[in-house]
Amino acid sequence: MADNYTSEMSLEGLDDEESSTLSAYSSAMNKFKREYRRNNSIDRDAYYVFLMSGTGSSKSGYMPFKRQYGFIFSDNTNDLTKTIAHELGHGAFRLRHTFSNEGYIASQGSTNNLMDYSDGTKLYKHQWDLVHDPENVNTLFEDDEESATSIKVNSENILALLNSNKRS
Ligand SMILES: [Zn+2]
Repeated sequence: MADNYTSEMSLEGLDDEESSTLSAYSSAMNKFKREYRRNNSIDRDAYYVFLMSGTGSSKSGYMPFKRQYGFIFSDNTNDLTKTIAHELGHGAFRLRHTFSNEGYIASQGSTNNLMDYSDGTKLYKHQWDLVHDPENVNTLFEDDEESATSIKVNSENILALLNSNKRS
């Protein structure tokens, strides 16, 4: 876990322009990431998950596919571990929602899966296959133009986190 980081920028409306395609950050998120990167040394092989409150977001978190930075809106989650694991599922392993058009499995909230909007923390076999695919894990970050707490996680931490969810 990295140090607390205090930003002067307003975090309100951080995800106002959030893309529904999970492919891009909003401009406010990009601004925050740039500021964070200016003020901290970045480990290229780690994921950064920012825990934020008071953003006014209606979501519990946001992390685009295969990106290095995730945002957790802690006002909207009562299970931080699940939310972090869910967002890393998107960001680190390109896992889709179980109810997404592209990989539809079941309607929203009807499964006990980590990638559903529910309390579930399970993963299906095809999801584990993505998690354990070394090529998928190692081609970490697509190029990226650049008071929160950040959690820095590497791939081993993520697997441990996902495994702890698998057992629960
Ligand atoms: Zn999600």
